[in-house]
Amino acid sequence: MARVRLIVISENTAEEATHTAHILNGVAPGVPIVVRPVDSPDVPGLYEAHAARVVDTQRAVTEPLGRAVLDLLGIGRTREHHPDPTVMSLFAPAPGSSCAHTENLQPVLPKSPGCTECLRQGRRDWVHLRLCAGCGFVGCCDASPGRHARVHAEDAGHPVVTSAEPGESWGWCYLDSVTIEPDRAEAGGA
Ligand SMILES: [Zn+2]
Ligand SMILES: [Zn+2]
Ligand SMILES: [Zn+2]
Repeated sequence: MARVRLIVISENTAEEATHTAHILNGVAPGVPIVVRPVDSPDVPGLYEAHAARVVDTQRAVTEPLGRAVLDLLGIGRTREHHPDPTVMSLFAPAPGSSCAHTENLQPVLPKSPGCTECLRQGRRDWVHLRLCAGCGFVGCCDASPGRHARVHAEDAGHPVVTSAEPGESWGWCYLDSVTIEPDRAEAGGA
C-alpha cells in the first residue's frame, strides 16, 4: 500500500467532515488532514480530530485550499501573511494563572491573515497582532493606530487574547491587565 502523505476532506457538511476526520485520524494517525467543509467548520471537533488545517469558506480568507495543501507538502512555502487562517489554536494557560477568564476556552481559527478590522477598513498600519482566544478575531495591539484587539475585547466581551506574532505564545487579559504564561507542557503541536 502506498504511504499516504496527506488527506483532504472537502465538499462535506461540517458534521460529516468532523466525523470523517475523526475516523481517518484513527486509521492513519500522524497523516496531516486538510478540511474544508461547505458550511461553518466545527473547530473544537476538528481540533480534537487533529486536523492540520481548516479552510473556512465562509470567512473572508484569501488563503485557498490549494495553498494549505502546498504548504503541508513543503512546496512554495511563503509566510508574508500571518496568522495563518487555516491553523487552529487553543490557548492553554500555565497552572496557577491569576486570570479566571481562560477556563472555558475552545480552539479558534484566526478570522484573517492580519488585523480583521484594519483589513475591513483597507488599512495595514498595525504594529503587532493579537488573536482573540474566544472567537479568533485578529486585532492590532495598543501601539497600533486602530487598537482593534482592545476594542474587540470590550465590544465582544472576550477579554483574553494571545500574541499572534510568530514564535510568541503568551496571553493577555484585558480585564485583569495581566500577562498569562502559556502551559509549556501543552505548547507546540501544529
Ligand atoms: Zn482575566
Ligand atoms: Zn487593527
Ligand atoms: Zn473574540
